Amino acid sequence: MKCQKCNCTNTKVTDTRPSSDGESIRRRRKCVRCGHRFSTVEVYGKMELIVIKRNGSEENFDPEKIMQGLQRAVREDENHEQKIEMLMQEILQLVLEQRLKKISSRNIALIVMEKLKQADAIAYLRFASVHKNFHEAHEFEQEFKNLEK
Ligand SMILES: [Zn+2]
Repeated sequence: MKCQKCNCTNTKVTDTRPSSDGESIRRRRKCVRCGHRFSTVEVYGKMELIVIKRNGSEENFDPEKIMQGLQRAVREDENHEQKIEMLMQEILQLVLEQRLKKISSRNIALIVMEKLKQADAIAYLRFASVHKNFHEAHEFEQEFKNLEK
């Protein structure tokens, strides 16, 4: 597992916790080189969810990608890690409780945006701007105006 700050591969697991639904496990890690702390999430093998990407190709659902999106979006402060973990759990629950065999990457992004919108307006905007291909440009601008009000 690579450190997301310095790319060093020497990271230490500091905590391991199963989620409340028992379907995923979260690990807190610390980079041995730069001290950066981050979390990773793994879903147990029994969950087989296929993600249909925008170009029509399919891949196995990887919660790590959501985690990375959240880590890019949520501003670093003293409790951003807890914030990310809470969001991650809520998002995973929403995705998993639908018991789907397939889900589009667009729908996943919409779920993430919905959660972020409630929790952290700035992170929501950052995430939405990264994924703005999910939105028509004018839709995004509208969102921005709504937030400014
Ligand atoms: Zn590092």
